[in-house]
Amino acid sequence: MLKEPTFVPVGTQATVKSLTPEDLKAIGVEIFFCNTYHLYLRPGDKAIKKFGGLHKFTRWDGQLITDSGGFQVFSLGKDHNGAGSLIKISEDGVEFRSHLDGALHFFTPEKSIQIQHNLGADNIIAFDECTPYPATKEYAQQALDRTHRWAVRSLIEHKKLNKKLNQDLKLYGVIQGSYYKDLRQQSAEFICSQDFDGIAIGGVSVGEPKDKMRQAVEWVLPYALKTGKPIHLLGVGEVDDLFDFFGQGITSMDCTLPTRMARGGQFLHRTGNAKFNLKNRFKDQIMHIKYKNDQTTLDKDCQCPTCQKYDKAYIHHLFKTQELLGYRLMSLHNIYFMTHTTQLIRNALKDGTFEKLKIDWLGRL
Ligand SMILES: [Zn+2]
Repeated sequence: MLKEPTFVPVGTQATVKSLTPEDLKAIGVEIFFCNTYHLYLRPGDKAIKKFGGLHKFTRWDGQLITDSGGFQVFSLGKDHNGAGSLIKISEDGVEFRSHLDGALHFFTPEKSIQIQHNLGADNIIAFDECTPYPATKEYAQQALDRTHRWAVRSLIEHKKLNKKLNQDLKLYGVIQGSYYKDLRQQSAEFICSQDFDGIAIGGVSVGEPKDKMRQAVEWVLPYALKTGKPIHLLGVGEVDDLFDFFGQGITSMDCTLPTRMARGGQFLHRTGNAKFNLKNRFKDQIMHIKYKNDQTTLDKDCQCPTCQKYDKAYIHHLFKTQELLGYRLMSLHNIYFMTHTTQLIRNALKDGTFEKLKIDWLGRL
């Protein structure tokens, strides 16, 4: 399990796009996130079990975490009008159609846990319903009560499988409750009272404004911190989030952003102006014409493999010509930027210089 602040890149299809396990090690990655829903559909959790589990399949010897599949079932299951007509939720579980071929599938808490045990990541997540934003209070309460019953069922199945398969996977329970303070606290109280190995905070990255997200996390943090267990924030991880949430005791966050941005030509960097950095979320676009003849590196202080060797003009060219190497060099840089910044935060939290570091980077506390 994770003990220190850790940024978790996302490798939906059991790969952090365009990077090898050796690359990941070289840029300071300790763990990555795989999506249960996608791997269940392709190549199938049973196939991965036959290959010896995700670690053997991917040749990655660091840690792994899988989600419950719930988030994808609920978000990909919606039709394009957002009416949610492709999923059916019952007390037992969720019926949904594959986004690949439209075939019907049914996930229950037990099934999600069985699939995750077949995949064999070190850390797994209880099955929950991630309510869309905004949700009415009445619906959010109903979904929450069901999520709590599913949490208990997930825990029972998990303990059974750990024993039966002689495994020691670690299970995170998920706090939900939409944007209602009393529901969030009710959920935090319940999830933190159960015998989970870690606490995850879910449903805070579903399209809501950032200050609301911070507030929802702050409502539940005191409960989670009291357990002394690792706390994972699901689907969050811009540069300012690293400071805001690691600074308050969150242990880990996963986010697709650094790799998604890399594929679109966006790179992370830091200028000397903290307010400018925060406003632009530390992002810039390599395809901008001003970089055509720029022989400096993506970030002047970056020690990543890309910045050790290549300049903006070359990467600009790779993106303009849609060469695959561009995506790879950019992914190396963006993920390094996140893991390295996390490392700076870790060190600053230990030696008491965190507030100074945060002001240096964000221009605010
Ligand atoms: Zn770099």
